[in-house]
Amino acid sequence: MHVDNKLSCPICNRWEEDADLRIASFEYSYLILNRDQFFPGYCLLFTKEHITELFHLDKVVRQGLFEEVTRAASAIANAFKPDKINYELLGNMAPHIHWHLIPRFSTDPLWPRPVWAEPHADTTLTQEAYTKQCDLIRNALEII
Ligand SMILES: [Zn+2]
Repeated sequence: MHVDNKLSCPICNRWEEDADLRIASFEYSYLILNRDQFFPGYCLLFTKEHITELFHLDKVVRQGLFEEVTRAASAIANAFKPDKINYELLGNMAPHIHWHLIPRFSTDPLWPRPVWAEPHADTTLTQEAYTKQCDLIRNALEII
């Protein structure tokens, strides 16, 4: 396992810090709702361990992780019926492996450009609305 700047990593403690946004704990990763819901259904999936590159993972773990990403994306798609799911795995700001899984609609303000093409003000929800979004995706996971 490769540990780089783990102490300052903003992803390592995300499961604890964003407990109100938890959707699912998989074998290798966690799935949470992104606090900014400018794009409704925007989720983050990150490895349970502080891993920074896919090629640092054992093949079996990598394949299992990829199944979790795919399963999460499928649930998000079932829950929100977007025109496309965007998968963003960059790691420049936070190298800990984390996917941005983003439902995109041809009617959304930045379509067809990447979600970061222009800055936007965060869209925060009430706790009740966050819970509702999380439940929607969690319920979709159960039928996949
Ligand atoms: Zn980390």
